[in-house]
Order: sequence, then structure tokens, then C-alpha cells
Amino acid sequence: MLAAALLTLSLAVFGLATPTTEKRQALAQVVTKCTKPNTVALTFDDGPWVYLYDVSKALVAAGAKGTFFFNGNNYECIYSADNIKRVKYAYDHGHQVASHTWAHKDLSTLTWDQIHDEMWRVEQALQRIVGVNPAFMRPPYGNYNDLVRQASAVRGQKLVIWDFDSEDSVGATPAQSKALYDQKISQHPSTILPLNHEVYETTAHQVLPYAISKLQAAGYQLVTLAECLGMEPYQSVGTPGTPDASWTC
Ligand SMILES: [Zn+2]
Repeated sequence: MLAAALLTLSLAVFGLATPTTEKRQALAQVVTKCTKPNTVALTFDDGPWVYLYDVSKALVAAGAKGTFFFNGNNYECIYSADNIKRVKYAYDHGHQVASHTWAHKDLSTLTWDQIHDEMWRVEQALQRIVGVNPAFMRPPYGNYNDLVRQASAVRGQKLVIWDFDSEDSVGATPAQSKALYDQKISQHPSTILPLNHEVYETTAHQVLPYAISKLQAAGYQLVTLAECLGMEPYQSVGTPGTPDASWTC
């Protein structure tokens, strides 16, 4: 009797909890490392911005690819004529494009609806500009909680962090960032998933060319994030749209 009563009680409690949590229970995978041996996935956050072309050129000249985690409205609206060109350029040159969410907010401080708002706006922008729905999202500041993981799961995305920080966004000089790369390479890990930011002139013109040559000399393949994981970069690949008045921040 007692056992039956407890069972009924626990079912009732579980039943009460279900309506609000059921849809949100799945947690998105959090990627912190590449899995394919001997690969490095160089990632570039916070653009699109003016140095994207030089980042891409340095990669392409070395037979390498990178991954751009784009914001929708950070340094400049993603729908500006210049930014539309930059996003297309990155995609057309074989780099992976992914979401860094809309306005670079700390997602771990937001409500369920606010999190989705930050996510869908940049997904819509990438679908409009290059026709793809990204499979990967990097939360700004690397900050996330279960609500963020649940929202990502609902949207079919994986979260991506990093296992090496060039520290370009926290005040490292180019010499310091280069030394960090040297230190990491000297440990010869099987894979590296580096964090860089395309919005710094020194990252594009000094640290990146140095890192590319050192990594390649150490025998690493410089590939996209999706390639270093053996996964698909996009949930869907379709036809880009045509800019109109609705393409606005
Ligand atoms: Zn960022």
C-alpha cells in the first residue's frame, strides 16, 4: 500500500513537472575538441569584419580552411552591403560559417525566449545570405547553462567551445599569442581547436600567418571544424535570398 501510494505520488510529481520541462530536456552536445587525429580547426569569432579577407587569404594560400563564428549585430550589422560580401566571400572560399548568435550577449543571463531570439536571427541571416542553416553555435564568452544547451538542442545545433585560446581578445600582444601557439604546438596534442578573433588587425596580419606556418611545419592539417569532427557543417543547404527591406538589424 505504502509503496503503491509513493509510486502514485512520484508519478503525480513527475506528471506535474513534465509539461514545462519535456520539450527542453535534451541537452545539446558541447564540443571542446576536434576528434580526427592530426587536425587543427582554426576558428574566428565576432565578425564579419574588415580583416576577414586577409584571414581567408592567409588560409587559402596555405591550402587551409577556417571556421567563422559570425554575429548578426556586433561590430556592424550583418546585412550591411560590406558584411553581406564578407559572409559570401568566406563561404565561397570553402570556409565553414557558423553562429556566434546575434548581438554578442551572454546567453547564460537570458530567458528561454531571449536565447532563441539571439539564435534565430543570425541563423536567418546566414540562410538569407548564403543559403545555409548552421549546425554549430559558439556562445559569446564561452558562457552557457542548461537552458542554452536545451535551446541549442531544439534548434538542432551543437555548442562549440575551444581547447586553446590565442588570447587575442583579452589583451595578448601578437608576440604573446605567437608564444602561446608555440607552447601548445610543443606539447604536440593529437588535435587543436584554437580560438581567434577576426576583428583584430594583428590577428589577421601577424599571429595567423605565424600560426599557420608553425602548425603546418608540425604536421597538422588545417581544416574546418566540421571536418575535424567528421560531422556536417550545416543542417540544410539551400538557395541564398535576394536582399530587400526586410534584411535589417
Ligand atoms: Zn565573441
